[in-house]
Amino acid sequence: DTATTHPLVVENLQKSFGGITAVDNASFEVEAGTLTGLIGPNGAGKSTTFNLITGTLTPDSGTVRFNNEDITGATPHDVANRGLVRTFQIARELEEMTVLENMMLAPKRQRGEALWRSVVPGFRSDVAEQETELLDRVWDVIEFFEIDHIADEYAGNLSGGQRKLLELARALLTDPDMLLLDEPFAGVNPSLERRLLEHIHELREQGYTFLLVEHDMDLIMENCEHVIVLHQGRVLTEGSPDEVRGDEDVIEAYLGG
Ligand code: ADP
Ligand code: MG
Repeated sequence: DTATTHPLVVENLQKSFGGITAVDNASFEVEAGTLTGLIGPNGAGKSTTFNLITGTLTPDSGTVRFNNEDITGATPHDVANRGLVRTFQIARELEEMTVLENMMLAPKRQRGEALWRSVVPGFRSDVAEQETELLDRVWDVIEFFEIDHIADEYAGNLSGGQRKLLELARALLTDPDMLLLDEPFAGVNPSLERRLLEHIHELREQGYTFLLVEHDMDLIMENCEHVIVLHQGRVLTEGSPDEVRGDEDVIEAYLGG
């Protein structure tokens, strides 16, 4: 059963916009506990693939399976509830709240029990208990990402890199199995990029699975154990960084644009 070793399985994914085929019969799998990179030049179809997996877009055909369940066409909310979580940019209204408030308000994965409790009267004391548990968990995550010194800062005042840390911290609070990140280092200064990468590696060692979408090939080669290369919507090749690096088709795709 490959589902236990490969939680994400994408098969024959297809998506066109008018006359443009953005994703063309793409198939790949992501192995549990790995940092897998999805790379390709601009326009290769990376973001479209990402959006098809996370439910932001619906494929014309093909399937997306997660933890052995068909999630093709599921809503973003449903996909996240199943434990496949993407980072989200901090919304405008959240910019006027502090980092701590942003964390407290991060969406939670809704499990059957919590939903059941919320509709049954007489659980008021449990609500207070749950708030305390949430605050403990929030502080754990804040300390893990070393953003405790900015806990009372308004999200709108954060640097680009600090925002990315907050976005990742919020995603982690949903208690995901797997995280999808689309160009998480865009606009991030080198020292914060290094910190973000250290946190990602630490989380991977804890057992989280990552799919990292990036157009910076060197960054992916240095940090991922498995690399999938998209070109013109198709999977051009995949393998270890060493296998992919020397591939002439990959070099040509990047040079040719
Ligand atoms: P990447 O993220 O690899 O740069 P995208 O997935 O964003 O690539 O885009 C793949 C192709 O699909 C490009 O040619 C792009 O112009 C086109 N495309 C993406 N989204 C849309 C859209 N909403 N409408 C029309 N064309 C789109
Ligand atoms: Mg993109």
